[in-house]
Amino acid sequence: MSQEKFGFEADVSKLLDIVAHSLYSEREVFLRELISNASDACDKLRYAAITKPALIEGDPDFKITITLDKKAKTLSIADNGIGMGRKELIDNLGTIARSGTTAFLGQLSGEAAKDASLIGQFGVGFYSSFMVADKVEVLTRSAGEKKAWLWTSEGKGEFTIEEAGDDAPVRGARIIVHLNKDQKEFLEPSRIQTIVRRYSDHIGVPVILQDGDKEETLNEASALWTLPKAKVKPEQYKEFYHHVGHTFDEPWLTLHWKAEGRLEYSALLFVPSSKPFDLFEPQRRNQVRLYVARVFITDDCEGLLPAWLRFLRGVVDSEDLPLNISREMLQLNPVLAKIRSGLVKRVLGELKKKAEKAPEDYAVFWENFGSVLKEGLYEEVAHREALLELARFRSTNGEGLCSLADYVGRMKKGQEAIYTIAGEQAEQLRASPQLEGFVSRGLEVLLLTDPVDEFWAQSVSVYEGKPFKSITRGAADLDKFKTKKDKKKPDEDKADSAEIEILVAVLKLALKDAVKDVRQTKRLTESPVCLVADESDIDMHLERLLKKHNQIDSASARILEINPGHGVIKALARKAGKKNAAAQLDDAAHILLDQARIMEGEPVPDPAGFARRLSGLMEKGLA
Ligand code: ADP
Ligand code: MG
Repeated sequence: MSQEKFGFEADVSKLLDIVAHSLYSEREVFLRELISNASDACDKLRYAAITKPALIEGDPDFKITITLDKKAKTLSIADNGIGMGRKELIDNLGTIARSGTTAFLGQLSGEAAKDASLIGQFGVGFYSSFMVADKVEVLTRSAGEKKAWLWTSEGKGEFTIEEAGDDAPVRGARIIVHLNKDQKEFLEPSRIQTIVRRYSDHIGVPVILQDGDKEETLNEASALWTLPKAKVKPEQYKEFYHHVGHTFDEPWLTLHWKAEGRLEYSALLFVPSSKPFDLFEPQRRNQVRLYVARVFITDDCEGLLPAWLRFLRGVVDSEDLPLNISREMLQLNPVLAKIRSGLVKRVLGELKKKAEKAPEDYAVFWENFGSVLKEGLYEEVAHREALLELARFRSTNGEGLCSLADYVGRMKKGQEAIYTIAGEQAEQLRASPQLEGFVSRGLEVLLLTDPVDEFWAQSVSVYEGKPFKSITRGAADLDKFKTKKDKKKPDEDKADSAEIEILVAVLKLALKDAVKDVRQTKRLTESPVCLVADESDIDMHLERLLKKHNQIDSASARILEINPGHGVIKALARKAGKKNAAAQLDDAAHILLDQARIMEGEPVPDPAGFARRLSGLMEKGLA
C-alpha cells in the first residue's frame, strides 16, 4: 500500500503553531473539539440515513467511544458517524475550511496572552489535538464505502494518507491521539470524565469511556433544548453555546423557549458577547442549526432566520416540518416561514427589553452587532419599526449612544428633520465643517459611521413622521434658527452682500467645471468653505464608498459653499469688486476648493498646482 505525502496549507501551519503555543494552558479543550466533531459526524449521518436507511443498517445507534491505552500512551475517540473519504481527508484536515480563518490569523500578533483570548473567540477545531500529541492518526471509512483511509501527521507542516487495513472502523472515524510525554493526565479515566462532563454533557450522542472491558456513559446525551428551562443551569447553557457556536466566549443573551399551539418548535438561541470572525463574509450565512424532531437537518438554512440576524447561534427544533424533505424544498416550506417570523419577533422583543432595562449592556451588543441588525432596515420593511426603535447612534449631543426617540425628544422648536452626517469615524465627523452651523444653533446631528447606514438611509425616509436629512447634501435651511452670536449682534461682521455676490460669480468663473455651483451658506461658522452634494446627486460619503468598491468611476461635481462671516471670505469679497479681480483671485479660488477637499479627506487632484499656488500666496503675504 502506498503512502502519499502532503503539505498543510500555509494557514494551517500557522494556526497549528499558534494553537500549540498560546492555548497550552487550556489544552484540555482538544477533547471537546474532537467530541464535537464526532457528534457532528453522527448528526450528518443520521440525516443522510433518512433517505438512505441502508447507510446505518446493522448499527443504528450512534455513539462516541473514548479508549485509553496506558501502554501505548494513546487516547482514541471513535464515532460511527459519516466518516471521510480520501478527498475529504485532504480537504477537511489539510486546509482550513472555516470561513474567516485567514482574516482571523491576520489579527494575531504573536503575543501569547492576547492571542489566546482571540483564539478563544474563534474555536480551534481538530488541530487543537496537536497541543497534546506527538502524532495524530485518523482512521476512517465513509458510511456506505468499501475503502478505508489512514491520515497521519505530527503537526509539523506535513501529513500522509494511505489506504487502511482491517483495523479501520466499519463506518465513521477513529482519531488516535499519541499523547506526548507531558500529558499522562489524559490517560486517567477520572480526568476524562471531568472534561467530558464540563464541556460535552449535552451533546445529543452518548459519550462512552471504555476502560478495559468496563464501559461507562459519561454524559447526559439529552438534547438540551428539549429540557424545560427551569431544569437547565447557566453552565449547561454556556457549554452548549460553545458546542454549537464554536466559541469560547460567554453568551451575551440566552433565549430558550418552546412555542406551542398551531406551530410547535423549541428554540435555544444565543447572542455572542463578541464578534464572530465571519460576521462580514459575503455569504452572510445564518448559522443556527435546524433540527426536525431532534434530527439535525442543516446549519445553513437560508429560510430559518434573516441574514441580518446571522450573529445568532443555537438550535431550532421543529415537530411540524417533514423529515424526509430535501434541503432545497425545505426553504420553500410555508411552515418554515412561520417559524422564522416567530423567531424574529421573539428575538427583537427580547432585544428591546434589554435596551430598555439594561442600556449599558445593550450598548455592548450594539457595538458588536448593530451594523448587522441595521441591514434589516432596508431588507425587511415588516420589521422596520421595531429595528428603528432598537437602533442606537452617536451624535453631536455627547459621547454615548442615543436612540431615535432620544433624538426626537431633543429636537428644537421648528426643526422638521433628523439631521445626519456620514463618514468613517465619529471623531473625524465631529470635526466636519458642515456641522458648524448646526452645532452653533444647538441642532443635534447623528453621526453615521457604518457603511450600511448609507443604504438604509436611502430607503427609510422617516421616523415618526420626521424625515432623515443629510447635512452634506442639498441646501441648509438654517434661517429660522439663531446662533448665540446672531442673537447678540445680528449682521455685524458679515461681508457686504453685494461684494459677496460678486465673489461668488468670480469663484464660479475661476473654478468652471470643477464645481457644480458656488453659493454662500449659514452651514459654516468657523471654516471659510466646505463642499456639499447637490440635492439631486448622491451624498458624498456614499459616493466615496462606491468609488472605493469600484461601483462607480467618476465623481459628480460638488457645490462649494462659502462662509460670508469668515475673514478670508470677507477679504476676498472686498477684492472681488475691484478691477482685475478675476486674475488675482484665480489662485485663491483653487486653494479654497482644495482646502474643502482636504477637509473631506479627499485627495487634491493637482498637488503640484496646489503647492505652487499656496507658495505664491505665502510669498505675497510675507512680503
Ligand atoms: P469544524 O468542526 O469547525 O468544521 P474542525 O477543524 O473541528 O472544524 O474539523 C474540520 C472538518 O473535518 C469538519 O468540518 C469535518 O468535515 C471533518 N471532520 C473532523 N472530524 C470528523 C469526524 N470524526 N468524522 C467526520 N468528519 C470529521
Ligand atoms: Mg470541529
